[in-house]
Amino acid sequence: MPKTEHYQWYTEQFAPTELHAHAIEETYYAGRTPFQSVAVLRTPVFGKMLVLDGDTQSSEADEKIYHESLVHPAMASVDGRADVLIMGGGEGATLREVLRNPLVRRCTMVDIDGEVVELSKKYLPEWSSGAFEDSRARVIIGDALRFIKEDRDSYDVVISDLTEPLPDSPSFPLFNVDVFHDIKARLVPNGVYVLQASTVGFQNMALHAKMARSLRPHFTNVRSFYTHVPAFDNDWAFIACSDGVDVASTDPARIDMYVRSLRGENWFYDAETHRRLFALPLYLRRELAKDGEVFA
Ligand code: SAM
Repeated sequence: MPKTEHYQWYTEQFAPTELHAHAIEETYYAGRTPFQSVAVLRTPVFGKMLVLDGDTQSSEADEKIYHESLVHPAMASVDGRADVLIMGGGEGATLREVLRNPLVRRCTMVDIDGEVVELSKKYLPEWSSGAFEDSRARVIIGDALRFIKEDRDSYDVVISDLTEPLPDSPSFPLFNVDVFHDIKARLVPNGVYVLQASTVGFQNMALHAKMARSLRPHFTNVRSFYTHVPAFDNDWAFIACSDGVDVASTDPARIDMYVRSLRGENWFYDAETHRRLFALPLYLRRELAKDGEVFA
């Protein structure tokens, strides 16, 4: 193994005093789109990685942990044939996971950045694995904010696979009361809105708690769940919101039946994983119970 100084490094900065450095074996692409900086790299441990604005979005080695968690707990809780909307999801892996369900009638994906989608098709084809060519996929390059305001269709599941709502991100305008109303108006009565919802390590759970607090007035059930994602070097959280169903309490037999119905095999998610995803540590439950800032 070559020595440390042999490599160039991609360093993800979590805080002014916290870094994780990945050795770079190859840089496939590094540039800027009108919306964000983009890098596609390969590292020895995680394989290919997509990095937007300096944040790791997913890695070849463990993207299934993130994408199976984002998609399947919500999808397992809805009945029958489903129409699904993905906001963001540039790599196409969320689309892939949704379309593994043969009962999905149509999946619409709206990503603002056509260059990220094209770079993902070119350098990361394993992520979408043919999903962009599936006749049930409708891929729209555009702002999800505009789409959600103009669209009049109904969805069984709406998935937010957007970049984190930091003030300089194009996803920031999608986190406010108006948009929560618009999304709710697009959901069928038992529908589920599920979001990727930032980190929940003891040292960095403030943004997640703010997201959960902001959604609580709008849905009867707002459930946080999380798992460790090694490429993110963080515990990563999601939020499932619904008036009609409680995604945390889906019957294990139903989950196993759902997983068996998918095309191909899961790598991460099943009924046992589901239990672990929704079992939150005490410090996080305490944080979620506190009052605090909200997205207004
Ligand atoms: N796994 C992720 C993470 O760690 O943050 C999110 C994955 S996905 C690559 C995020 C996508 O959200 C990007 O492709 C970006 O272009 C898209 N996006 C950001 N703001 C958007 C907006 N307003 N409308 C539609 N897509 C948006």
